[in-house]
Amino acid sequence: MNTDKRLVYMDHAATTATRPEVAEAMLPYMTGHFGNPSSLYDLAKASREALEEARERVAAAIGAEPKQVYFTSGGTESDNWALKGVAFAKKEKGSHIITSVVEHHAISHTCEWLEKQGFSVTYLPVDRFGMVNPADVEAAITPETILITVMMANNEVGTIQPVAEIGAIAKKHGVLFHTDAVQAVGHIPVDVGELNIDLLSLSGHKFHGPKGTGALYIGPGVRLDPLMHGGAQERGRRAGTENVPGIVGLGLAVSLAVADMAENAERLTALRDRLTAGLLAIPHTYLNGHPDKRLPNNVNVVFEFIEGESILLLLNRYGIAASTGSACSSRSLDPSHVLMACGLPHEVVHGSLRLTLGEETTEADVDYVIAAVKEVVQRLRDMSPLTPPELRSQSIGGDKICITRR
Ligand SMILES: *Cc1c(COP(=O)(O)O)cnc(C)c1O
Repeated sequence: MNTDKRLVYMDHAATTATRPEVAEAMLPYMTGHFGNPSSLYDLAKASREALEEARERVAAAIGAEPKQVYFTSGGTESDNWALKGVAFAKKEKGSHIITSVVEHHAISHTCEWLEKQGFSVTYLPVDRFGMVNPADVEAAITPETILITVMMANNEVGTIQPVAEIGAIAKKHGVLFHTDAVQAVGHIPVDVGELNIDLLSLSGHKFHGPKGTGALYIGPGVRLDPLMHGGAQERGRRAGTENVPGIVGLGLAVSLAVADMAENAERLTALRDRLTAGLLAIPHTYLNGHPDKRLPNNVNVVFEFIEGESILLLLNRYGIAASTGSACSSRSLDPSHVLMACGLPHEVVHGSLRLTLGEETTEADVDYVIAAVKEVVQRLRDMSPLTPPELRSQSIGGDKICITRR
């Protein structure tokens, strides 16, 4: 196959390119309109107005009021703030938190830290599709429970959680409900009112906004301690001079993402399903995550008998950027906690591949990736001592596998 100088970016769940018009809108707030929004002279007014316009845009994207939106440095800070903020504000009332075993590390590692501070955490299991059962949430609630945190959509396997049901349960029991919606906002419809959400995290760089930008939605009457102490920015709740250019970019990016969402989702779902079908045609290959309650852009599969890292390295030679839930790519020694939680056997977890599509992905890209993955998987299976004889090249027609170097 022809591989010259092609770049196929299929890692949109990791990050996305900032849209050129977003980058352009940010620039004036680094140069001409550089004033500190807290200052009193005219120069600061442009920064202040830009901040409030961005707040309106983020609020509109999630069905909130502008005054309920607080800017942060990204999804990780929003998650930390929501959990630590509620934990410390409510510790007189109780010390129990409910979460799931498939959360992003920004949630799970924060929960583990809170356990060290004396809080207790219930980590709810998931079914084989990575889905939390709302009945388990309800059963886990005790008089001590102060917060439920379950993500809206999973970053690894794309499963969309039943947040509306969980929100209704939280409301019924008078427990606060936080959701990490970093993979959802700009990709699927999100409405904090309809879903009974008290706190919601979002991040700019997951929807073609700038990195290091995010927001936390804080619903009416929710008390939480600050994470950042200092000046009186963000109505005294989040100190530090605002990242005005970043916030301008975040606001524009979320507006654009939501405007194009329905159309994009339809197109991406078709591409996703084409890619999934192409990959599942490879023998001993299985889909991870929910077959249809999943993000429009997420494909996650496992190939038996081979290693995810090797797949990535060979795909890189084809100019394909992808991800795996196995050890090296995540820079930790553990295989994906999400795939393990879905009940995949340890040896199979290592052969996972995540491909996440985006607005620039074409059908030609999808077909190219299918062809490349087929070649790579066969080559690795030919080298793997685990591969049964009938799956080796010699026994499937002796096709000469040829990796074209870039
Ligand atoms: C990317 C991601 C985060 C972290 O967001 P940052 O802005 O990179 O800090 C948190 N949760 C989920 C589900 C994510 O996908």
